[in-house]
Amino acid sequence: MSVFSHNEFDNHEQVVFCHDESTGLKAIIAIHNTNRGPALGGCRMWNYVDDQEALNDVLRLSKGMTYKSALANLDLGGGKSVIIGDPRKHKSEELLKAMGRFLERTGNQYIAAEDSGTSVPDLQVMGIETNNVAGVTERTGIDGLPCNGDPSPATAYGTFAGLKAAVQYKLDRTDLTGLKVAIQGVGNVGYRLAEHLHKAGAQLFVTDIHEEQVDKAVRELGATAVSQKEILSLDVDVLAPCALGAVLNDESIPLIKAQVIAGASNNQLAAQRHDLMLRERGILYAPDYAINAGGIIDIFYERIGHEHNKVRAHIETISDTLMEIFRRADSQDRPTGEVADELAEERFMK
Ligand code: NAD
Repeated sequence: MSVFSHNEFDNHEQVVFCHDESTGLKAIIAIHNTNRGPALGGCRMWNYVDDQEALNDVLRLSKGMTYKSALANLDLGGGKSVIIGDPRKHKSEELLKAMGRFLERTGNQYIAAEDSGTSVPDLQVMGIETNNVAGVTERTGIDGLPCNGDPSPATAYGTFAGLKAAVQYKLDRTDLTGLKVAIQGVGNVGYRLAEHLHKAGAQLFVTDIHEEQVDKAVRELGATAVSQKEILSLDVDVLAPCALGAVLNDESIPLIKAQVIAGASNNQLAAQRHDLMLRERGILYAPDYAINAGGIIDIFYERIGHEHNKVRAHIETISDTLMEIFRRADSQDRPTGEVADELAEERFMK
């Protein structure tokens, strides 16, 4: 298996293959870049088909974290780790502790957070062996209330700030009263985003595969329930994807009527070229990793212990970053995703 000539290799600083015979742990830690600070990123546990698929994931995702933290102006680099195995079958306390010992060996260059297949309690078990875990302590949340470490409220708040910036830029309005917003997925982030929008007077259209979530939004936020099929093509001002990735693709883009796309989902563009396709259709796309950075900002401050109002203020800078992206994209006639990458590179490359 090649690393240096791998398609996803992008001058990563360290790629560590970890094996613990007694617990069966097989993991890879990838540290992409530490120019701005220690690499922070999720520890994913997944039943990969083979080592190659795991390497692919860890190289790609660790690079994404460098860009995300840099764009959010955090003193963090980018990294990721993957544990190879089925989280429902192969996870054990001893395996998680073994992972913790490997995290410790990175010499504070990589900090792991919760991700697909790992939970806050799992990270707490790793934390028995190392301090290099994040998102694990109870603290005051961004609303001033106790928070168990879940970054979703911060992600939703940042997405709301970013959505307002995009609306101001594209639709020239700061008052959200009557603004029509379609939200795909009213889970941890989407529902909280809906609450912020409802308070601001927006008119909501929601869908989810879990009906009870939709019913709650209808009952408590006056939202209109729509089908999963019609959500992307509704005649609304803003589309907020908050469920899954790759929703902006060859099929959906020609049907989108919203002038603004501003949602929390990761990897919304099915392929890089869809960035340009949105621009050509005159749709303003708020790049996903810029607008959904509230969670990582929150986790960063958990480690350095700032007050919640400072965390909120930092999260609100997501709107400044987006404004800079929108202006540069228009002045240079380039798609916003491409400009976001360029701005991130300016912020992390020496
Ligand atoms: P979640 O699982 O709590 O919510 C997702 C919701 O989408 C669920 O209610 C689910 O039923 C629904 N859903 C799934 N498929 C759907 C479909 N086809 N149509 C409609 N609804 C569908 O997840 P979350 O934590 O709210 O995260 C939402 C998105 O934001 C994900 O892409 C996630 O990667 C991204 N994100 C989350 C955070 C965070 O802090 N939680 C941070 C950054 C990015």
